[in-house]
Amino acid sequence: MIEYENLNQTNKIFCDDYKKSFEDFLDRGWYILGKKVEEFEKNYAEFCGTNFCVGVANGLDALTLSLSSFNFEKGAEVIVPSNTYIATILSILHSGLRPILVEPDINTYNIDPEKIEASITSKTKAILVVHLYGKVCAMDRIKEIAVKYNLRIIEDCAQAHGAKFKGQISGSFGEFGAHSFYPTKNLGALGDGGAITCNDPILMDKVKTLRNYGSKIKYYNEVIGYNSRLDEVQAAFLSIKLKSLNSITEHKRKLAGLYHEHLGGDYIKPEIHPDYHDVYHIYNIRHPKRDNLKEYLLNNGIKTEIHYPIPPHNQPAMQGLIEGRYPISEEIHKTTLSLPISFGHTEDDIHRVMEIMNNF
Ligand SMILES: *Cc1c(COP(=O)(O)O)cnc(C)c1O
Repeated sequence: MIEYENLNQTNKIFCDDYKKSFEDFLDRGWYILGKKVEEFEKNYAEFCGTNFCVGVANGLDALTLSLSSFNFEKGAEVIVPSNTYIATILSILHSGLRPILVEPDINTYNIDPEKIEASITSKTKAILVVHLYGKVCAMDRIKEIAVKYNLRIIEDCAQAHGAKFKGQISGSFGEFGAHSFYPTKNLGALGDGGAITCNDPILMDKVKTLRNYGSKIKYYNEVIGYNSRLDEVQAAFLSIKLKSLNSITEHKRKLAGLYHEHLGGDYIKPEIHPDYHDVYHIYNIRHPKRDNLKEYLLNNGIKTEIHYPIPPHNQPAMQGLIEGRYPISEEIHKTTLSLPISFGHTEDDIHRVMEIMNNF
């Protein structure tokens, strides 16, 4: 059986360091917002090429705190891609704002910059881009639009740690980059975790205050805050893994290269373009008989996933909150299949997957 991902396998080479780090953590006896969180924030800001990083509890909170820090008026509109994980949309709703969905480019699966302007109204305040599957959005064009209409940019970087567009790293383009360290992400913790990257010291100060009950001085609450702090122990683990993030990415890029070169048949593969350094959080293909293919692969000992089976606008929770039709998003959701591509997979695993796929 080839698993979609075996996290135990992915994390194996880090375990000795994790154990040592956990012992140190127990010896220190400091559990919340200590030196390990500070250390990771410094390391991760450096990795992303941003001035600041603020550790938070998870990716959803990284998005929500970023949006909340602007204090937009209730019901202000935020542009967001129609094909994303539900968390992106939830962060807009939790911030009291209105999601305005824009269709993706069918080739990159990221928001189509040429469709953004038609959705901008006098109420639009921000564009929340998602670097889906590990490919950065076309940020040059999106920044042009943001400048033209005076909009803020927030980047959902949950799937794009270290991904680049024209040499620049995800999380450094907009006012905020929101990162998730959910265990399956490229930089995955051993539990929940998240971070916000930014360059502006005033904005950094706002999210830092928001994550800790709206308080900078203990028991003195300036704003209506949250409890959303990155754990000390997770921060320590993340600093260890961060040192290997480039090797993790290189491994995934090598496996993606194998699929790109040797996978035959009529599978639609991810686009490769020299402007983009993709990190392949997910390697998806598209096929009109996706469900049959998934079953065929499972019968042949290969587990796959679907990211995602139901588009946000068709989720029961979103009824009455999202209007309009999104046929491109629906087409992607109907045909996409995510193939094994983890740090724990070998080149042989990928050749085995392709051999079976090539006989479908
Ligand atoms: C994982 C993910 C999130 C949410 O991260 P959590 O840490 O699970 O809250 C948000 N957006 C995208 C695109 C994701 O893949």
